[in-house]
Amino acid sequence: MPAAALPSWTEVFPWAETAILACGFVWGAMLGSFLNVVVHRVPRGASVVHGRSRCPRCGAAVRPRDNVPVVGWLLLRGRCRDCAAPISARYPLVEAGCGLLLTAIAAVDLVSGGVDRILVRGEWLPWAQFAFHGITALTLVAWVLIAAAGSRVPGTAALGAVIAAGLAAVAVPAVLPCGVLPAGGTWPAGQPRLAALVAWAAGTAAGWVASGGAQSRSQAAVTLLGAACGWQMVAVVMAVTAAGRLGRRWAERITARP
Ligand SMILES: [Zn+2]
Repeated sequence: MPAAALPSWTEVFPWAETAILACGFVWGAMLGSFLNVVVHRVPRGASVVHGRSRCPRCGAAVRPRDNVPVVGWLLLRGRCRDCAAPISARYPLVEAGCGLLLTAIAAVDLVSGGVDRILVRGEWLPWAQFAFHGITALTLVAWVLIAAAGSRVPGTAALGAVIAAGLAAVAVPAVLPCGVLPAGGTWPAGQPRLAALVAWAAGTAAGWVASGGAQSRSQAAVTLLGAACGWQMVAVVMAVTAAGRLGRRWAERITARP
């Protein structure tokens, strides 16, 4: 007699998918809040773990309830509780952006294949994919913020992250986004680890070369993007960047006309 099928989790708890997406947003917003601290303190050589955040104008410590991602800034209406100095909207925007980023990754990696995989059958691969994509995306956000602030990502951090992405891809080739492995993972035939290594090497080289140049502050980020997402993603980003630059030049020429 066949064993009775386990009930689907979504029948028992219809809000399971929504709950996982909500968790993704909360994790992302909390990590985005941490990234704000990292990007603010690391270039100043300060510890990212010790010491509470302070208002840059009056020096008052930020109270825990005002430190809640996104909500804290909204309740304060963007002003310090003690001296009413304006607080940059960049902080809640980074927190909300990271929250939406992890929500999207959770939707693809954890929810789209059916939540029963993680809630009933205990599969670990969706979690491995979620972790790989989430860590990569948040690292890229941090580096883009550091570049936007006019600083450079330390070379050792960039090298370490690129190597870590390669080790993760070789250990679990399925964490690579689909389509990144050469010829859909069929080459070299039956060798997914070798294919992952080839994809990582090609992506790293493409990112390094494409973003080269003495003035490029984003080289670390583009190289990690290639290492973790393949040369295809580097091509997309370079094309979008070039199109954006052309568009800006065109807009400047039009507005400069008498
Ligand atoms: Zn203040």
